[in-house]
Amino acid sequence: MTFLNKLLIATNNQKKLKELSAILIDLGFECVTLRDMGLDIDPEETGTTFAENSYIKAKCGMEASGLPCIADDSGLAVDALDGAPGVYSARYCEGTDEDRVAFLLKNMENVDDGNRTARFVSAITCVFPNGDTIAAEGYCEGVITREVMGDGGFGYDPVFYVKAHKATFAQIPQAVKNEISHRANALKIFKGKMELYLKEGGLK
Ligand code: IMP
Repeated sequence: MTFLNKLLIATNNQKKLKELSAILIDLGFECVTLRDMGLDIDPEETGTTFAENSYIKAKCGMEASGLPCIADDSGLAVDALDGAPGVYSARYCEGTDEDRVAFLLKNMENVDDGNRTARFVSAITCVFPNGDTIAAEGYCEGVITREVMGDGGFGYDPVFYVKAHKATFAQIPQAVKNEISHRANALKIFKGKMELYLKEGGLK
């Protein structure tokens, strides 16, 4: 089915924006950014789950713009660390992405090769001006490496190794990441739900 609906993507993370819009445009959405709308919003992420935080961000963007607004809250859940850094992925420690990667590797120094499983999680929520919401969650399974590998991507990409590709997220082409990532998987589910919503008369 073809549809073209204007969606505001509520993120200030330019790399996330690029990934989200590439996938959403592909699905037939017309995307506008916070910058396009002249909006400078960054709501406090007070939720305890990815889903709660994505709802907070999407609702804030919808209220500020009057447009349906989509937001992603994502992060890395490491099994050996009981799911940390989880919803605190962006705030795991002070400093840059590189500092957080180094902190993660340090915290996993004594974790055996067989116990370094982890997954990226992405919760996507779209909030409509009438209060309707569509939410979806996606995952990507991987293993945390012992050192940084590759210089693409962002965040924890250089230490997130995907066995099927024999490479970290920072080593695979962006187009490939866009097909297999947690965000891509969440968006696939989101697309199905959005199509159903439109079929049932949403966004008239
Ligand atoms: P958020 O902007 O509050 O959703 O924070 C997400 C954080 O999780 C980012 O700052 C990264 O540290 C991490 N993260 C989420 N998605 C990815 C990804 O695709 N690659 C690497 N790190 C990611």
